[in-house]
Order: sequence, then C-alpha cells, then structure tokens
Amino acid sequence: MAAYKDMSREELSALKQELEQEFKKVKSKKLKLDMSRGKPSAEQLNLSMGMMDVLRSDSDLICEEGVDCRNYGVLDGIREAKQLLADMMEVPKDNIIIFGNSSLNVMYDTISRAMTHGIMGSTPWAKLDKVKFLCPVPGYDRHFAITEHFEIEMINVPMTSEGPDMDLVEKLVAEDDAIKGIWCVPKYSNPQGITYSDETVHRFACLKPAAEDFRIYWDNAYGIHHLYEDKQDYLIEILMECKKAGNPDMVYKFSSTSKISFPGSGIAAIAASDANLAEIRKQMQVQTIGHDKVNQLRHARFFKDIHGMVEHMKKHADIMRPKFDAVLETLEEELEGLEIGSWIAPRGGYFISFDAMEGCAKAIVEKAKEAGLVMTGAGATFPYGKDPKDSNIRIAPSYPTLEELKEAVKIFVLSVKLVSIDKLLG
Ligand code: PMP
Repeated sequence: MAAYKDMSREELSALKQELEQEFKKVKSKKLKLDMSRGKPSAEQLNLSMGMMDVLRSDSDLICEEGVDCRNYGVLDGIREAKQLLADMMEVPKDNIIIFGNSSLNVMYDTISRAMTHGIMGSTPWAKLDKVKFLCPVPGYDRHFAITEHFEIEMINVPMTSEGPDMDLVEKLVAEDDAIKGIWCVPKYSNPQGITYSDETVHRFACLKPAAEDFRIYWDNAYGIHHLYEDKQDYLIEILMECKKAGNPDMVYKFSSTSKISFPGSGIAAIAASDANLAEIRKQMQVQTIGHDKVNQLRHARFFKDIHGMVEHMKKHADIMRPKFDAVLETLEEELEGLEIGSWIAPRGGYFISFDAMEGCAKAIVEKAKEAGLVMTGAGATFPYGKDPKDSNIRIAPSYPTLEELKEAVKIFVLSVKLVSIDKLLG
C-alpha cells in the first residue's frame, strides 16, 4: 500500500468513500467497546482467586514477628510481605515500607508531605514561590494529575527509545533549584512500554541537581510484567546505582501488586535509603497505627515467595500476549507503510502507544467513539492534558476479551485512516 501522502486527491477521496462505507457498517453494529484504561481482565483477576482460600476462619493469623495480624501493631509491614515485595522490587528487605492498597496513594502522600513539611529539613514546597517537576512525555496521566493538583509546574521532557532525554534532564536539574522531582516509569513505561537503558539509569544516579531536596520518583509499576518469556527487558536497580554514585537519598521507588493480584486490593510499597525511610516512618506513625496486615499475610501466603510471583506473572502473560499480538498484527497489516502513524511493540507492561499524524489524535478518538469504542482521551498522556502535537494515543488492550479487542482495533485503524485522509485533503 502506498503512503497516503503520495496519493493524489482523487485517489484519497475514492479511498475515503470506501472507508466510510466500512465505518458505517461497524457503526450499525452499535458496539460498546473500551480500550481506555489499563485494567486487568476478569480472566486475569481469576488467577488470584486462590488468595480467598489461603486465610480461613480457622487459620493461624500470626505473622513472623509473632504479632496477631487481626490486631494493631507492626507499623511498616509484616516481615513476610516485606521479603516478598523487597524481592519483587530488587531491594534489601530493610529498605522497604509496606503501605496499603495503592502505590499512587503513596506517591500522593510523598508529594503532599514535601509540600507541607519539606524533605529532610528543606523548606516545605508550599512556602516556595515556585516548584517544578520534570515530566517525561508521553507519560502516566495520574502522575501528572498529582503534580497539577499541588500546583507544581510541569515541564515536558521528551522520551527517547532509551528513556527520558537525559541531556535535557541533566541540564535542567543542574541549573534550576525550583525543579524538585521527575516522574519516571522506568520499566515497560506507561504508555510506550519503553525500558530505560543502562546508560539512562546510570545518568539518573549521577545527576547533580541544584535542589538538595530533588528526588527521582521512580514508579516501577511494571517491574515483572513481561509479555514474553524469551524476550524480556532488564532494568538496572536504581537504589543501588544511586548509592554507588554517592547519591543514596536521591530516589523514591514505588511499586504495588495492583496488576499482579487485585487492583485496588493489593499491597503497595516504597523503597528508599535508610534516611528517607526514617523520615517517612516518622510521618506515617502520625497518619496510621498500621496498614492492612491481613491482606499482607494473604499475599505472602498465596505467592509464598518471589518465585511463586514470577510463575503467577507467566499466567498473566499467557492471557495478555495474544491481546497485544492481535493489536500489533492489525496495526501492521492495516497501517504499515501508509505513513499516517507509528507505534512501538512493547515487551511488557499494559499499553501500546500510538503516534498519529500531527493534529489528528483528538479527532481519531472522537471518530472511534462514534462507532462505540472508548479510548483514553487524547492528550491524557501529557501534563495538563495538552499534547502539543495532538498526536499521541494510548491503547490499553488488557480489559476487553480477545474477540472484542479485534473489533475494537478494526474501529481504531478505520478511524486513523479516515481522520488522516481528512487531514491530508485539508
Ligand atoms: N503507576 C503506574 C505507572 C500505573 O500505570 C498505575 C495504574 N495501574 C499505577 C501506578 C497505579 O498503581 P496502584 O494501583 O498501586 O495505585
């Protein structure tokens, strides 16, 4: 198939008519499809139903500390949950705090604490005229929502195939002490599925920020969420890398079991240096007497150890892989060579990122909606919901069934073609 830009106006108009007929047909099916959020499917959730059986009314609910999990006690996580999540996050068990059911919640609290109380004796951000954050784009909308909520100015940093543009990151953090942090999804990033290269992680660890309270907000949400057993990305562990570089306190690492067990009913954790964790614990003991230890115990007993978790993730991958493959195959078959969009085939995570021709993303999402397909809002992958090129669209293949997904991608590629033709015809 020729590139659309090389076709004459007559050819494009004829093609448009043909595609519009096809679009009418799918529209008449009155489908209701959703590719908007990265939620696991019911089939994936079923994988963790055994967790309902590991604790019963006659179970012993005493954790390794000898504490009864039904009662108060153990502020920062029971030992067995710490071991499990420390192994998952590739950090020592003493460098981790277990929280409640959401890592996003922990990120929010971390920013909130910096606003009101400051970090390690620095001026609370709320008392400063200006606080800024670097935001690799495209990125995760809920990260951007947190910083927007606290009126922190967000600065776009373009992603490359190896992670954020590190020349720019190094320069900006070195020259501006109002820059207090950077949002990172370093493995199978949301939405591009990119894993930061060794060099990128190394350069992060060696940053020389002007602000003493600058932190890297390292959200490793997809650390073990591989799609293929034989093709996996590797990410250097950032805590150790920062320690080696003489910057042990520069990073907060977040993760959770949301897309391993049950989103919203999993367990979350932060990993950081001893000094950072000491500060976090101080505030935490005012905030709570302790998180849900019964759920921590349930997770520890269900997975047993990291090997159990890795085996469990293979089952997730078996469900996810055909869905990703179906989307990628259709994109290739239908759009390859047309020069109206580009995408990256990820090796893990939850998303496929699609870049349409400039100025087309909003219209494509609208068009797809006409035929009953809900996509993530165009612009959502950028701070303030503003994609300067109106080009990026996030595809989330996990939730629909394979059959629904195939219909959904058909609608998507038709929408891409129709909007691109309109754009070219002017
Ligand atoms: N971080 C990223 C990058 C995500 O994509 C998501 C959504 N699954 C979250 C965090 C939310 O995690 P949690 O459920 O632990 O709040």
